[in-house]
Amino acid sequence: MKFDDYPIAAEIKRSLEAAGFKKPTDIQFKAIPAVMKGEDVLAIAQTGTGKTAAFAIPVIDKLHKQKSSSRSEGIKCVVMVPTRELAIQIAEVFSSISRYTKVKTFSVFGGVEQGPQIAKLEKGIDILVSTPGRMFDLVSQGHIRLDRVDTLILDEADHMLDLGFIKDIQDLIRHLPKRRQTLFFSATIDEKIKKLAYSLVRNAIRIQI
Ligand code: AMP
Repeated sequence: MKFDDYPIAAEIKRSLEAAGFKKPTDIQFKAIPAVMKGEDVLAIAQTGTGKTAAFAIPVIDKLHKQKSSSRSEGIKCVVMVPTRELAIQIAEVFSSISRYTKVKTFSVFGGVEQGPQIAKLEKGIDILVSTPGRMFDLVSQGHIRLDRVDTLILDEADHMLDLGFIKDIQDLIRHLPKRRQTLFFSATIDEKIKKLAYSLVRNAIRIQI
């Protein structure tokens, strides 16, 4: 199976071709059809497996097909990640895959001034990648609204729990619509991770790489 054979938009196939991606990796092969069907996903996958594109490709495809103008209608997808480095890296993957579409991604994280991040958020974005702490601060101050979000992604959930983000994550979930698609990614799984995962996903497709 090649990316060419997938029912994804031509604009996205073009960016995958430009990146030199021809065939899906294992996790992409398993996750992309499930995400495109609207299923929740619980995936155990390590970095280096192509997990970022596994969620970025179908999410951008959905938003691209929904979007009729370049104006943002509010944040439609949030990606929660443990670190600033991962936020930047994931936003770069999203921006690269969406380069021929009108879908816009932006990352925010703690440890830097809020001002420039708020200014950028006010211009309108479709996908927000953020560490839970900074996202919580911006939501509490009214700079971010999450009531239009229909896709929630947690990446490296085990690492987020190790860093003590559980309370921020749980507080943020309360701001999200209950009807949404949730994609939960972790490199490892134990009782704590399972508890968080099953409090967020519904009838999830389980993928282990
Ligand atoms: P990740 O696991 O998301 O950190 O991705 C690991 C690396 O694999 C990144 O450098 C990606 O650019 C690359 N990659 C992801 N998907 C593919 C693919 N289908 N074909 C070739 N390289 C890929």
